[in-house]
Amino acid sequence: MMYKTHLATSIAAGVVVSKVLSFPFTIGYLSGVVIGSLLPDIDHPRSFIGRRFIVLSKAINKEFGHRGLTHSLIFWLILSVLLSAHINYFTLGVSFGYLFHIFGDFFSRSGVPLLLPYDKKRFKSFITYKTASFSELVIFYFSIFIGLFFILNNEIISPLIESSSDLMRNLLQIVISLLRK
Ligand SMILES: [Zn+2]
Repeated sequence: MMYKTHLATSIAAGVVVSKVLSFPFTIGYLSGVVIGSLLPDIDHPRSFIGRRFIVLSKAINKEFGHRGLTHSLIFWLILSVLLSAHINYFTLGVSFGYLFHIFGDFFSRSGVPLLLPYDKKRFKSFITYKTASFSELVIFYFSIFIGLFFILNNEIISPLIESSSDLMRNLLQIVISLLRK
């Protein structure tokens, strides 16, 4: 799956989850989902995130290969336990985004090694798409549609706007206090 499809599917899934579990869709949560949905592909030096952390990416790729340990549910579980030490909407978003990425790749033809390091077997859904194909494009637009459908709903958009303006206000205060020094 291409990074933009991971972003679109993860944000759409993130919106739906926040609605179903009824917690506010804040800017912190949204940023977490975005980062989490890109993280697993750090094992590919030419991926969107890999190119930005090239040294780390090459090291991980050399050790585990692409779609290795970073695409394992066991790894996700460990990451989530570590994140839960600082539980907030951002870390919750990272955990969900990461899981949605693995889930997205589970539907691709090459599948994902869900049980690494215990089992190298790659698992995939019985319905799959080919990366960068027309079906992936359909998934991309469908996710944008679902995402917008929910985000433009008042219940979702107001906490997002509120938390964004809170964040901006805090950042502004930090800048002002730094300038005063
Ligand atoms: Zn991936």
